[in-house]
Amino acid sequence: MAYYICPNCKRRSVDLDGYEGFSTQAVQCRECGFGFLFELLEDYYPAPETGFVVCDKDRRVLAAGRGVFELTGYNTADLLGREVAEVLALSDASPIGVVQEWGVRKLGQDLAIKTRAGIEKLVTIDFFPAYDDDGGLLLALTPR
Ligand SMILES: [Zn+2]
Repeated sequence: MAYYICPNCKRRSVDLDGYEGFSTQAVQCRECGFGFLFELLEDYYPAPETGFVVCDKDRRVLAAGRGVFELTGYNTADLLGREVAEVLALSDASPIGVVQEWGVRKLGQDLAIKTRAGIEKLVTIDFFPAYDDDGGLLLALTPR
């Protein structure tokens, strides 16, 4: 069974039998029309205020979903192509290395980021590796 989540609106979907035709190809979100879904190994329930940031294998931001602006002060356009740990001034970027090297999730990491205004904000971040061989990752940021 495969679980998918929309990085933008956080709609979850489950591919029970392949009926929806999920594949390695990009699949649009049926809720908001966002261009691709992120595959998760296990089901995951984000908090209402959680914001998702999707990165490529070089940790550069590919997409930022709803809620990220409220958390960080950055619009998607401000984040695209930027190294995620750098642009958010992550207090500890080592979980990213673990996720990318070992392909495991690192959930519930209590970290700090800096908003666009330079204000430190305490967040809990769940890190997920991408399973589509691109080597990317997903960050789920939740204020605490
Ligand atoms: Zn969506």
